[in-house]
Amino acid sequence: MVKKYPWWNEKQKKLADEAKQFANENIPRGEEIAWTKKFPADLIKEIGKRGWYGAIIPEELGGIDVGVTGCCIIAEELARVCSALTDAYAVTMFGGTEQLLAFGNDEQKKRWLPKVAKGELLGAVCITEPNVGSDAAGIETTATREGDEYIVNGKKRFISNAGPAGIYLVYAKTSDRPEDRARYKHLSALIIEKDTPGFSVERINELSGWLGFPNGYLDFDDVRVPVENRLANEGDGWKILMDGLNFERTVYSAQILGVMREALRYAVAHSQRRVQFGTPTIDFQVNQFKIADMIARLKTARLLVYHAAHLMDMKEEAILEATNAKLYASEAFEELVSDAVQVMGGDGWTKFYPVESMSRDAKVNTIAAGSNEVMRIVLYRQGLRAMREELRMPLRRIHEKLGVPISTTKPSITPEVNEKTVLNLLAEDYRVNPGIYMRREDMKAWLAGVSDDQLDKVLTSLEAEGLVKLYRDRRGAIVLAKATYDGLKEAKPLEHYKWFPDWIDKELLF
Ligand SMILES: Cc1cc2nc3c(=O)[nH]c(=O)nc-3n(C[C@H](O)[C@H](O)[C@H](O)COP(=O)(O)OP(=O)(O)OC[C@H]3O[C@@H](n4cnc5c(N)ncnc54)[C@H](O)[C@@H]3O)c2cc1C
Repeated sequence: MVKKYPWWNEKQKKLADEAKQFANENIPRGEEIAWTKKFPADLIKEIGKRGWYGAIIPEELGGIDVGVTGCCIIAEELARVCSALTDAYAVTMFGGTEQLLAFGNDEQKKRWLPKVAKGELLGAVCITEPNVGSDAAGIETTATREGDEYIVNGKKRFISNAGPAGIYLVYAKTSDRPEDRARYKHLSALIIEKDTPGFSVERINELSGWLGFPNGYLDFDDVRVPVENRLANEGDGWKILMDGLNFERTVYSAQILGVMREALRYAVAHSQRRVQFGTPTIDFQVNQFKIADMIARLKTARLLVYHAAHLMDMKEEAILEATNAKLYASEAFEELVSDAVQVMGGDGWTKFYPVESMSRDAKVNTIAAGSNEVMRIVLYRQGLRAMREELRMPLRRIHEKLGVPISTTKPSITPEVNEKTVLNLLAEDYRVNPGIYMRREDMKAWLAGVSDDQLDKVLTSLEAEGLVKLYRDRRGAIVLAKATYDGLKEAKPLEHYKWFPDWIDKELLF
């Protein structure tokens, strides 16, 4: 059922067996945590001994170097044990470890990563503040340079691993200059260690789920941080923050897979044993369909996650894949766990089965690690950018014999660019695309070698004559053009625009 994908290497396949065995053995311990709400320090020690905190850390720094894929394999299996364990693991991976590897200097790596690899030092990522959520660039916490130190002041909130973490990757504002803000050079990334004077946990959130996992507010009151704790250069904070997001979203989604598997397991096992109307409830097709949907969601989410992880291991761009994995897995899990509760009936809604706690955990996945609205914004913007060429409007013309609009690969180029030819082009476009405007790029495809200036001049003149309607962007640049009614009449006789299907009774027309 749970595949070791063929592209995983031998080390990753072996790791998958070990992690699965660890999860199977420790699920009872994980279930205790849902009742005691105590942070699972014992389990963290166990996974530390296995070296799993060193998943992405190279061997020379004490790691096991199994890549993003290996890190996801571990996160997926730990999630089957309990959310506190997998969260403490995943947050450490994307709360300092990945950023230290990507942006830390040798000294910084040697100072912290060997301890992280052994599970002796947990990490936390500190972006969110009381006044700053999705709009992360608006960070208000300040880091003011004083000699060889930064003086940090401000508050962070919703910080996972607040308390257990030994190192906190804190994003703070190092410049108020509008030009730095405009270029996203106003933030810096600092590693702040627990026990630094002035740095304290202000509050622990009483969350709806993630039982036993501390998440809270942090206070920085004139905290003196040595400059050598800064990652990369001053002003590189935003770059570091953005760079880590693909990794964060992928590992975060890997955790969701583990819980999906457990919820599916309970839905199946329970309905095989529950008898109503003289038959196990799994025999009702409505429950089978729900289970089929659960399997489909799990299989799809898993492919998305490990595909994104693989691309990252190949050092390929994965922004769309990582964002899509987070978006899909979080929403698929919400639907899956809701179906699992439904299949189990009242039992599913009691705390005596773990599915209840999973169903409460589900919601946060659409909010944390960047809300799903933000995921959709990223997919829309980046997707359109990445698929720009594929998403171009096909060139279309009126087919000579059929007389209907049809796409073409061979535009009939208009050699001369003047008011008449541009108006004719727009009039012809009315026949092909009556309800939409032409973009600049559409016009340029039909007008041989026309420059932007030349086109603007002709269009503006046609507009002044009332023959063309233009749409301009906020900066006043012409983006879209369309012939007006007068423009259509000026270009061609009314007959030119007429078209009727063969089946229409000609007597009906006038
Ligand atoms: C359990 C938990 C753990 C977390 N762990 C950490 C952590 O370890 N470190 C950390 O730094 N942060 C952490 N966060 C914070 C998390 O990243 C934020 O909650 C998240 O980015 C959303 O910010 P917000 O809650 O302030 O919502 P807001 O930004 O206030 O947004 C409210 C709503 O408006 C929507 N919205 C906002 N802007 C737009 C827009 N431009 N277009 C459309 N919709 C928009 C949002 O999607 C959301 O639905 C955690 C949060 C939770 C709940």
